[in-house]
Amino acid sequence: MFKNGLLLIFTLFMVAACATDNQHAPLTNLSDIKNHLIEYKNSGAYESDIKAVTHEARLYIEIQAHQVPRPALVLDIDETSLSNWPALQANDFGWITEGPCKNLPQGPCGFKAWQALSKDEAIAPTLGLFKAAKAHGVAIFFITGRDESLRKATEKNLHDVGYDSWQELIMRPKGTTTPSATDYKTPARAKIEAEGYTIIANVGDQPSDLAGGHAERTYLVPDPFYRIP
Ligand SMILES: [Mg+2]
Repeated sequence: MFKNGLLLIFTLFMVAACATDNQHAPLTNLSDIKNHLIEYKNSGAYESDIKAVTHEARLYIEIQAHQVPRPALVLDIDETSLSNWPALQANDFGWITEGPCKNLPQGPCGFKAWQALSKDEAIAPTLGLFKAAKAHGVAIFFITGRDESLRKATEKNLHDVGYDSWQELIMRPKGTTTPSATDYKTPARAKIEAEGYTIIANVGDQPSDLAGGHAERTYLVPDPFYRIP
């Protein structure tokens, strides 16, 4: 009797343990998340959060620019210096790289086709950081995951919205990929340093923009919209 009682208790314990293993936190509804993203952008909170980060970067750059030889600032482009918001919205936050972009504001809108239009707006706090760094004699390098086929369109877009007189725009060789953006961006920063520059700040919207060293400080601006590995 006692043995059967122990067996029953053990069985109940195992059933309870299995039930616990299968439990998980409730997931947030995807449409609710998308609505939060739109509210985050439209309320101004997104730009305000970016501004808080670029302000910190600016404080450091304005001092450090005068302490090191050949100071440099590295900026990512998409969702750091330029905003792809119309395409993000048209795609309902889906990651669509290929295909045309002819039906705005409706989608779909292939990202490459969108970027070829040179219609991105500047991310204002980053443009402010760009100008402040330049005023302190800092050389500015853009390192972007966009490939060389978008060079003319990207240069036009940057100029049109107020970025001017950067040192170099570094783009991926056409058709190349790496497992992580870090695998392409880290050697690019090492090359800048090998030319004698001191990268005092590296600003990006993805952790993969910033990993890998070769910058005194890194600054991550918010991007809740997509993830680049
Ligand atoms: Mg980016």
